[in-house]
Amino acid sequence: MDPLKPMPVGGIDYPTTWSQFLEWFHSEEACRCFLENLRWPNGVQCPKCGAVNNAGRASRDRWVCRSCKHQTSVTTGTVFDKTRTELRVWFAGIWYITNQKHGISALGLQRVLGLGSYETAWTMLHRLRRAMVLPGRELLKGLVEVDESYVALSERNPLISKAQKYHAHKIPVAIAVEMLEPKGFGRIRIRQINGRDAEQLRPFIRENIQPGSVVHTDGSAAYRGLEHIGYGHQRTVHMGSATPAHESMPGVHRIAALLQRWLLGTHHGAIQPRQLDYYLDEFVFRFNRRASRSRGLLFYRLLEQAVNTPPVTYKAVIRGGPMHLD
Ligand SMILES: [Zn+2]
Repeated sequence: MDPLKPMPVGGIDYPTTWSQFLEWFHSEEACRCFLENLRWPNGVQCPKCGAVNNAGRASRDRWVCRSCKHQTSVTTGTVFDKTRTELRVWFAGIWYITNQKHGISALGLQRVLGLGSYETAWTMLHRLRRAMVLPGRELLKGLVEVDESYVALSERNPLISKAQKYHAHKIPVAIAVEMLEPKGFGRIRIRQINGRDAEQLRPFIRENIQPGSVVHTDGSAAYRGLEHIGYGHQRTVHMGSATPAHESMPGVHRIAALLQRWLLGTHHGAIQPRQLDYYLDEFVFRFNRRASRSRGLLFYRLLEQAVNTPPVTYKAVIRGGPMHLD
């Protein structure tokens, strides 16, 4: 590193190229320092008593609060909490997941990072997916297409045999797409649903679309009464096969096709239904930032969200189910 160049500051700077990334994050120390500035722009905040900028270093990576003597570190209470994986590896993982146009599978991440275990890569990706949804994110608005679709998943183990498919699932999902004037798509939301009735679709609409927006749906009874909960409602009733779905609902149709291609291409469709929502979050995260000027900025945003997302245990990632490979 050039000693005359000022150190990059977390919270202000972000790397724009891989070579710059390598230059900035050459050591654990450099990563930790960047993360501290990103998480605590106004000085270390004690998680116990809330005191800001009143802590001293207790060791290389630990701080001690001068008010209450509580010890903490920059990774405590974040996605990186208690992981044995080095920050450098985490940073590189975030770089890959945000810089590859279609993301990366756990097997791919294990290879590029040279990780000893597949499980480490798989768990890293799942922890990062938890950081891809911001709690207070803005709802979709304007004209929004909403429809149900299906994604096809298969459970198989790519380490054993490519042909060994032993389960196939078709999972219903709800898709919402902002339709722009005169053409083009804005942001999207996708979620797994248990059925195609109002009980499933209404909460999806309420939680993802701003009241006052115009919701465009097909003629399904599940969408009846949207006017009573604050939405404009535009219905396109399919009369037999006179209007193919891709013409009357082009947004949802297009997103469903892209999603299926991504699940099959990057992940070979090998996803357990109980984990599908987290993959949907990743797809939405990438799609909604597809116009981002800089991939480095995406890296920065995900890193920022990761230090503002509480930790998730390995058990919670697995959620009681058996380990699978993707
Ligand atoms: Zn304290």
